[in-house]
Amino acid sequence: MTSPVRQEETELITMSMDLQLSLLASGEDARKAIPKFRCRSCDAPLQTSFVDLGMSPLCQTHIAPEQLHEMEPFYPLHAYACDECFLVQLQEFVTPGEIFSEYAYFSSYSTSWVEHARRYVEMICRRLGLGSASRVVEIASNDGYLLQHFVARGVPALGIEPAANVARAATERSVPTLVRFFGRETAGQVAEEHGQADLIIGNNVLAHVPDLNDFVAGLRALLAPTGVVTMEFPHLARLMEGNQFDTIYHEHFSYFSLVAVERVFARHGLTLFDVEELPTHGGSLRIYARHQAHEVLALSDRARSLHAREVAEGFLTRERYAGFGRQVEATKRRLLAFLIEARDQGKRVAGYGAPGKGNTLLNYCGIRTDFLEFTVDANPYKQGKYTPGTRIPILAPEAIRATKPDYVLILPWNLKDEISRQAAYVREWGGRFVVPIPEVRVLD
Ligand SMILES: [Zn+2]
Repeated sequence: MTSPVRQEETELITMSMDLQLSLLASGEDARKAIPKFRCRSCDAPLQTSFVDLGMSPLCQTHIAPEQLHEMEPFYPLHAYACDECFLVQLQEFVTPGEIFSEYAYFSSYSTSWVEHARRYVEMICRRLGLGSASRVVEIASNDGYLLQHFVARGVPALGIEPAANVARAATERSVPTLVRFFGRETAGQVAEEHGQADLIIGNNVLAHVPDLNDFVAGLRALLAPTGVVTMEFPHLARLMEGNQFDTIYHEHFSYFSLVAVERVFARHGLTLFDVEELPTHGGSLRIYARHQAHEVLALSDRARSLHAREVAEGFLTRERYAGFGRQVEATKRRLLAFLIEARDQGKRVAGYGAPGKGNTLLNYCGIRTDFLEFTVDANPYKQGKYTPGTRIPILAPEAIRATKPDYVLILPWNLKDEISRQAAYVREWGGRFVVPIPEVRVLD
């Protein structure tokens, strides 16, 4: 009998095992022996672990009752920081085509987000003097929640959206929408057919882009010589400060600081000349970019001071990133200690919400129905299903009143004020709300 493993493969495996053993013996992380991936921004090998959240299923793959006896795909959820350009990132295990082609998220369902969009449109039209002769393009325009406000003002707008079902909703709102992913190729075609854009908008899309350089090169190709790009995305500094490790999931490929995003844009001839810090999604940045040559738009004090702040806080050093994993492990232990004590005392614990971030938290902490009997969600699409991986039943919010749990763990902690107000009746039987992030805490 010949072994199915060839000689050179055996040698490679042995070498890797020897390396793992010697790393373990020296107190180092044995996974350093695993082959390295490369940075999606600058192509340097990735060596610095930011946080390893173990194996996790995709966060939107809720399990139907008839799927309960089937297995689920799990992928590594391990974020690295690049030692060269300091972009924090995940590897791409699933293509955006698999994630975004039929997307269940319609931006218009969130009234606070639609209001955020309306205020933005008012501000940017005034700031850039946009009118009927201008051209606005939004990438990942979803159901037209934002562009509808330009259309209402008579400013010509075009949406680019990969999910056909949400794009259809935009078209029904009279927002012209192309069903496409954005990159160099799409940018070239749009520029040719519709002309270059005076304003390109991208909200919560940059983090979802696997080929970052192709995307930013596309921005440059589509942007008119005097045009402006604005993009919003969660700010890495807030993620770290607020311990928001649960906002890391497979659909988010990149986690940006200002200094890391500046480098990506500079590589493609674009300068970030202004930045705003916003409270949305636990703390976001809105960056303003222009062509390097269009120096009329001068660097703002806000851009200068945030850049200086990040440099002072060490965002251009490896050490800034290397300690985050330990901080996350401590958060996990404290949450589990709370749940173990509560269950030991015979308390009943239910969840509120079944968001993507809940999936990362539950899987990483190993919280299943032994700790959380069920969770509830207002979205009827999720009710009757189970959380991915941990398979906790998702019920309608009425289940809370029916079972009167002692503790209600709010999984979308960014909405804790709204939820504790809406479900204030929990206090009628002495129930308490609990948030897991930044640290487990029972609300007053
Ligand atoms: Zn890099």
